[in-house]
Formats: sequence, structure tokens, C-alpha cells
Amino acid sequence: MPLPERSGSDEPVFANPVFGEEPITVPRNELSAAGLDPGVAYQIVHDELMLDGNARLNLATFVTTWGEDHVQRLMAESLDKNMIDKDEYPRTAELEQRCVRMLADLWHAVEPIGCSTTGSSEACMLGGLALKRRWQHRRRAEGKPTDKPNIVMGVNVQICWDKFANYWDVEPRLVPMSGDRLHLGAAEAAALCDENTIGVVAVLGSTFDGSYEPIAEICAALDALQAEQGLDIPVHVDGASGAMIAPFCDPDLEWDFRLPRVASINTSGHKFGLVYPGVGWALWRDAAALPEDLVFRVNYLGGDMPTFALNFSRPGGQVIAQYYQFLRLGHGGFRRVQLTCREVATALSAKIAATGAFDLLTDGSELPVFAFVVKDGEPFSAFDVSAALREAGWLVPAYTFPKDREDISALRIVVRNGFSHDLAGLLMDELTRAVERLRHQSGPQRGKEAAGFSHT
Ligand SMILES: *Cc1c(COP(=O)(O)O)cnc(C)c1O
Repeated sequence: MPLPERSGSDEPVFANPVFGEEPITVPRNELSAAGLDPGVAYQIVHDELMLDGNARLNLATFVTTWGEDHVQRLMAESLDKNMIDKDEYPRTAELEQRCVRMLADLWHAVEPIGCSTTGSSEACMLGGLALKRRWQHRRRAEGKPTDKPNIVMGVNVQICWDKFANYWDVEPRLVPMSGDRLHLGAAEAAALCDENTIGVVAVLGSTFDGSYEPIAEICAALDALQAEQGLDIPVHVDGASGAMIAPFCDPDLEWDFRLPRVASINTSGHKFGLVYPGVGWALWRDAAALPEDLVFRVNYLGGDMPTFALNFSRPGGQVIAQYYQFLRLGHGGFRRVQLTCREVATALSAKIAATGAFDLLTDGSELPVFAFVVKDGEPFSAFDVSAALREAGWLVPAYTFPKDREDISALRIVVRNGFSHDLAGLLMDELTRAVERLRHQSGPQRGKEAAGFSHT
């Protein structure tokens, strides 16, 4: 892959700026001959990283930016553990299996199989591959061609599904947005399915606005399709965020393995699973949903372990931290954390609406995530608001929506554990000041070219 154009200078790094030692320089973009003292090297790296944003003020990301000290301690203690090396680290492997069983219980699977991954992206690749392979087996058994697989999903899917379709030669069939429907609709999904459809992806918690897709309705529409045309199309639920919210906050919502058509589910342990970046989960409802010929038996490290993964080596600490969080919080603790996030989100969205400058697209009552637009007639754009908040250190992204609602420019706030009512109040003060100031503009200053954030 070509390197991006160099954004920094090629000046040498001036070392020993702080230790009162003989100043020296080392090259910036190539290895020096001799290296540096560890204290000096540490300080140089540490100082440069001070200029990264403050993760806690980043309201764009869904990924965990705050954790208890004990999480950090466990992760530091397990820095040397390789997740693939299950024979060497059998207790880590056991904790992974316990997490799978806990998730299966939360998602109402009876005979589940599953695994950890590096995140939802890898988990979605595995879910999609299982759908594709199952479809290929069925088509071959029927003596039919397997050269034109397609997958049906909303245009709002996360970029990992565009990657899945691209990398594995599956035609993406994207349902556009329409009017107030800003995610996949049931009838629209069923209408795009045919005998070459490997599955439908339904998202529990759209990244564009935090809304839940109507998964039970999508399944019902596919049931009707099967009754009419004999097509039996499985559903993969991308629950990157929502699969760790709905079980605790919306126990009566049927979106999971309670629906017989749901073949597999993924989630990001590092989003509302409350673990630092680097862990996701993929579960299948039963062994029949995961073709055996996708599973590798790894035995050259000493044991005989089934694995289904794109990576080989990967850190064990994130899985250990996931088990810690399950143990530490329990069902009641997760419910308290997630409901608090939702409460902060809905209270904040109500205050934002009350400024009179914005219309809410969502209010944070599904995922604790909401999107809002600037009211018609205000002399500023969503991108102006994003830039004004940025000056105060807050990262609130502005972006345009996809097909057929490219006319929408929205701002979005993701409320995560650690973003308290207090911090929300500070953000609100800043937003109020920004709106007052922006109302003196003669007209919007920034358009979508100013967006530092993109879904694709
Ligand atoms: C974040 C997200 C992904 C990608 O997850 P990673 O864990 O970042 O790889 C996929 N789908 C949805 C709906 C997401 O929100």
C-alpha cells in the first residue's frame, strides 16, 4: 500500500530536550544507527502523543474510552498472552468460552457456537462468510450455479459490510433511505431478495443515527417471502452496539435468536461491552449455521483447537477484560451502566432540541446515540457547529447521509460509559455559547467538504 504523502517534517528528532544531557539528533523517518536511552525515547513519544485528541471528549466514537483501574491492571498483566495459543494459555481460552456462553444466554441461543474476534468488522466477515458458504453448499446440492451471490442490507450499514461484499465477491444490494425511513425497511429488504441472496444483514443500532432496525419485521417479511416463493433467506444481526444494549435495556424486544430466522449475531466487546479497543464476538445459533468446512483445526501448538478467524495471533488481554466486566458488573451492573447512558443521551437530546436551533432525527432512546440537524433558516451549518465545538475540545462529528437522503447534514453524539450528566452539562454550555455566536453569522460558512468524519 502506498504511504500517504508525508504530513510531518523530515527534520531530525532533537533528543535530550528534557534530561539535561548532551543534545543529539536522530532521524525521524528511518532507524538511527544506535537508538536512544529508554527514558529519552519514552519522553519524545509521550510528548508527541499529547497532541492527539482527548479520547473522553470524542463524542464521535462508539469505542470504550474509560475503564476502571482494575481493567487496566488485568490487561497489563496479560500483555504477553497470545489468544491463539490456547494450549499454552488454557485459562484464557476458558474465559473466552465462558464469555461466549454468557453472550449466548443474553441472546437466547440454545445450542450456540461462537468465538472472539478483533472487533465487529472481523466478526461480520465471519458471519458473512458462513452465510455465503451455506448458500454455496445448498446451491451445489441442488445442481445450481454459485457464481452470483448477493447480500441485502440497508445503505446505512457500517463500512465493514462494503468490505465484506468487495473482498469476498458478493454483490451488495443496498436499500436506500426514503423519507423518514433512515434505515432498512422490512418490505424493501424482502423485495431485493432472490435465489442468489446469501442473507439479509439487519443492524441493531445504525451508526448514522442510533436507531434500531425492525429486525422482527424483517424476519416476518422473509417468512412471508418463503411462504410465497420458497426462498429461505437467513438473517445476520449486526449488533455491534445494540447487542450489548438491548438485552439489558429492552428485554422484551425480540431481535435475537428468539427469532428462528436469525442465524448469527456479532457485537463489539470494545463498544458497549465496555472493553478497551481490540475485541468483538461472533455467535451462530447452532452448528448447522456455521459450515464445518470453514473451521480449521490448529494443532501445531500442541493442542487440537477448532478456530474460525481471519487473524492468527492476537492479544488475550481484551478477552480477559471482557470476562472481568461480565464478572464485575453482572446483569444488574450492565443494566445500570447502559440505562445511565441512555438517560444522559435522552436528557441531552431534549436540551439540544429546546435550544430551538435544531431538529432531532433520533433522541437516544434506542442506542444511547442521537443525531440532529440544524433547523431551516439558521445562518449556520451542522459543519459550523462541529467546528465551533472543536475549538472547545469537543469532537462532535457532522456528516451527510447516504442515498436517497443526501440532503441531510447531521451532527451525532454517542454517549458512552463515563460521559456523565455533568460532562453533558459542560458540553451543553459550550453548544449554547456556540449557537449564540453562530447566529451572528451572515450565513453558513462550511459545507460537507469541511467534514473531518466519514462513514465510508
Ligand atoms: C462499529 C461498527 C462496526 C465495526 O465494528 P468494529 O468493532 O469497529 O470493527 C460494524 N457494524 C456496526 C453497526 C458498528 O457500529
